[in-house]
Amino acid sequence: MRSGGISLDPLITNIQRFCVHDGPGIRTTVFFKGCSLHCPWCANPENIKKEKQFYYMAERCVEACSRREQCNARQGGKELEADLEKCPYGAVGIFGQYYTQEQLLAEILKDSAFFQDGGGVTFSGGECLLFLKEYDRLLEKLNQAGVSVCIETALFVSQDILEWAVCRADYFYVDIKSLEPEVCRKTLGGNLERFLNNLEYLYARVPGEKIVYRVPLAEGVTLTDSNIMEIGRLICRFPPEHVEIFGVHNLGEKKYERLGENYKRYQTIETERLNQVKNYFSQMGIKCTVNLL
Ligand code: SF4
Repeated sequence: MRSGGISLDPLITNIQRFCVHDGPGIRTTVFFKGCSLHCPWCANPENIKKEKQFYYMAERCVEACSRREQCNARQGGKELEADLEKCPYGAVGIFGQYYTQEQLLAEILKDSAFFQDGGGVTFSGGECLLFLKEYDRLLEKLNQAGVSVCIETALFVSQDILEWAVCRADYFYVDIKSLEPEVCRKTLGGNLERFLNNLEYLYARVPGEKIVYRVPLAEGVTLTDSNIMEIGRLICRFPPEHVEIFGVHNLGEKKYERLGENYKRYQTIETERLNQVKNYFSQMGIKCTVNLL
């Protein structure tokens, strides 16, 4: 899909193989570039913007490099494309690659031997639902081949996309972040009403045992007593197979640096605090696991 010379093609930043936490069995996870939110703790900042992005890895840049004087990458210049070709040390790279439906199918099916015990492909991001509809033929072929499809989503998408997705995916891993409308709007960039409507829509069409919720805990944002209580109430209304909670971490910090973007560090959530939240949910009859990253 092209418009005015600007590429609007969906981009993929990574195809990660042998994943065991992104749905049942062994899975191949495909990360789409572009998101409808901008959570400040995002561990994959390269997946927030839809456009291709260049990055510069200072640790690979070599003192004795003959291009050091004129290198844009090193000086934080904008013309990184030229350096991408010329850097002999791989210090400059690009996030985002376009795959045709056939190319992506071929990449996924390379791992088909590992999909035997209920494994398959997981589409993630960013927000994969912004792009997946363009891969309709691919999804159809995966369905025909008996490869299970899991979608990781924050559900901040229009309902017609969801309507399409519920007919093609086997599992949904849904993020639940803040249920405070203002926090959702200002800090995450999303409309809470849209999320709630979509969750209700999803739950009316997909059995609870095919849905898992993921709750990232960020001190003062998603980890507040009132938010946890609201989340507990919501989960009881729409019970899933299970809920995973985890403390946000700062592992993505280096990526922000490489992209030339600022990062706000988050306080590490102690295991004891994670267990308190887990116990709170468990007391409400919710099956909950702590994911220690
Ligand atoms: S070309 Fe690569 S190694 Fe050389 S100065 Fe630029 S970034 Fe550093």
